[in-house]
Amino acid sequence: MNQAPAARRVLLPAALDRAPPPLGGRVHEFSGRTMGTTWNVRLVAAVRLRRAPVLEAIQSALDEVVAQMSTWEPASDLCRFNRAATGTWHTLPDAFVEVLACAREVAERSEGAFDPTAGPLVDAWGFGPAAPPGMPGGAGLSEALGRTGWRRIDLDPVRRTVLQPGRLALDLSAIAKGFGVDLVARRLAALGMASHLVEVGGELRGSGVKPDGQPWWVQLEDPDPASPGRATVLALHGLSVATSGDYRRWFEHDGTRYSHTIDPRDGLPIRHGLASVTVIHASCMRADAWSTALGVLGPDAGPALANRLGLAARFVVRRGTHFEERTSAAFDRLLD
Ligand code: ADP
Ligand code: MG
Repeated sequence: MNQAPAARRVLLPAALDRAPPPLGGRVHEFSGRTMGTTWNVRLVAAVRLRRAPVLEAIQSALDEVVAQMSTWEPASDLCRFNRAATGTWHTLPDAFVEVLACAREVAERSEGAFDPTAGPLVDAWGFGPAAPPGMPGGAGLSEALGRTGWRRIDLDPVRRTVLQPGRLALDLSAIAKGFGVDLVARRLAALGMASHLVEVGGELRGSGVKPDGQPWWVQLEDPDPASPGRATVLALHGLSVATSGDYRRWFEHDGTRYSHTIDPRDGLPIRHGLASVTVIHASCMRADAWSTALGVLGPDAGPALANRLGLAARFVVRRGTHFEERTSAAFDRLLD
């Protein structure tokens, strides 16, 4: 039987009943750094495991994502595309195409709340590598808005080519971490390690069970440390979870808090009272992108779209000094 740790609520996917029996072995833990944050992997393998090849497989998967999709690495494929001359076509690596195609799909379905071409806006507010965080000056914002728009992406996923239509600046930071988690999970499965919990910068994905038959239990982040007893635990079995929150990166100016998540439709950092959005999805890439998209949509339009699309999402809304929770129907269906 799967015994949940003591907590207020338990999220238990039905697929857990069909989990294969534990295979023996023990849990090994690995960690490192990537994408300006940390990563952590727990996996089930033989008691005597050669650690070096596993560590190398994990780190090289994450290094690949950075080499292709980082806005912080001037030599990345993404930065080279962003600098490229107008009218040039670029052949992209498979992973980049997979992430860009998904980013475009989330942009379309969220009607531009998520936008992988928001790079100029991110830079204008100082959340990119170009400048420190602060208010954009002069014509900076309108110039950045003019360059933003996911409809400008001309991607041919079959030939794996993308057009630089002129000063289009991609930013995949709101989706690449989640993809990194998926890629590590894929590589581990290919190495025969199908039971694992992968985490990059707070985004998680789990499969299989531990040697004691327990699934990988994770506790959902709660932005309100002053409210004990609200803990929600989730059995991450074939599932990912990603959280987008305004307590992660922000700056303050004249008493207003500016989040690093920007609404590409008006070019301004989101400023409704959402403290965090958590999305549970089979794909960590999608969970990551949707947590940002729903965060931009806010406490009313966010839950409405999550319900229309059948996404499992939890919204924590800031109300003065306390927090209020809203959940989508698909999230509630996961409740024990
Ligand atoms: P969070 O954990 O808060 O979701 P992420 O690290 O996933 O944050 O993504 C935030 C980053 O995504 C920003 O630093 C910026 O580079 C980029 N970004 C900001 N606003 C958007 C948006 N509306 N759509 C897509 N990417 C965005
Ligand atoms: Mg995100």
